[in-house]
Amino acid sequence: METKQFKAESKRLLELMVNSIYSQREVFLRELISNASDAMDKMYYRSLTDENLAFNQADYYIQIIPNKADRTLKVIDTGIGMTKEELETNLGTIAKSGSFAFKKDTEIKDGHDIIGQFGVGFYAAFMVADNVTVKSKALDEEQAHQWESTGTEGYSISICDKEQIGTEITLKIKENTEDESYDAYLDEVQLKEIIKKYSDFIRYPIKMDITKS
Ligand code: ADP
Ligand code: MG
Repeated sequence: METKQFKAESKRLLELMVNSIYSQREVFLRELISNASDAMDKMYYRSLTDENLAFNQADYYIQIIPNKADRTLKVIDTGIGMTKEELETNLGTIAKSGSFAFKKDTEIKDGHDIIGQFGVGFYAAFMVADNVTVKSKALDEEQAHQWESTGTEGYSISICDKEQIGTEITLKIKENTEDESYDAYLDEVQLKEIIKKYSDFIRYPIKMDITKS
């Protein structure tokens, strides 16, 4: 297991984002779904040049699994996955992510506008989760790896078991406070509404089992 610090600027941006006051925390799901979709697009593009890789549309979908008892929300894709090195470079640097790449941190005083209008990327997960685990098996690497972080403190990477190529993200949804409830992100009906709102442009099926409670 390796534990690393985020780069200084990543840490500052992450703090700004997580501690800003939002009415739009729900956009984290838009970000995770769009990343999943991008990862499956990459498989498709790869299949155009790699004759050993067949692209069967039915194999590519996004799965959303809320679990109220565990307070977890999983977002699973069958995309190209990330190697250990990619987990490190792609998820270790917040400044890489979406619109933050174009903004100086002095311009991010009011997170509200940016969050709603632009892509804020993977780190948006920390608006609703206090722990994020990313298990990934890359097309180009035998061994699967797991990236885990509680936000500002940094992240750790270790090997893990994962059979299927792709990525499984588990959010440990924050506990409710006096002022804020995060329960919507564990509720199938409310999740369905959020997904509907943000996934118009997604060309892959998004599956979520609805269980009767
Ligand atoms: P952006 O999508 O704008 O590049 P993100 O912060 O959303 O920024 O994601 C950073 C990078 O992490 C992506 O560019 C991609 O390389 C990688 N990534 C994130 N989620 C996934 C995923 N589900 N599958 C594969 N790679 C991913
Ligand atoms: Mg993204």
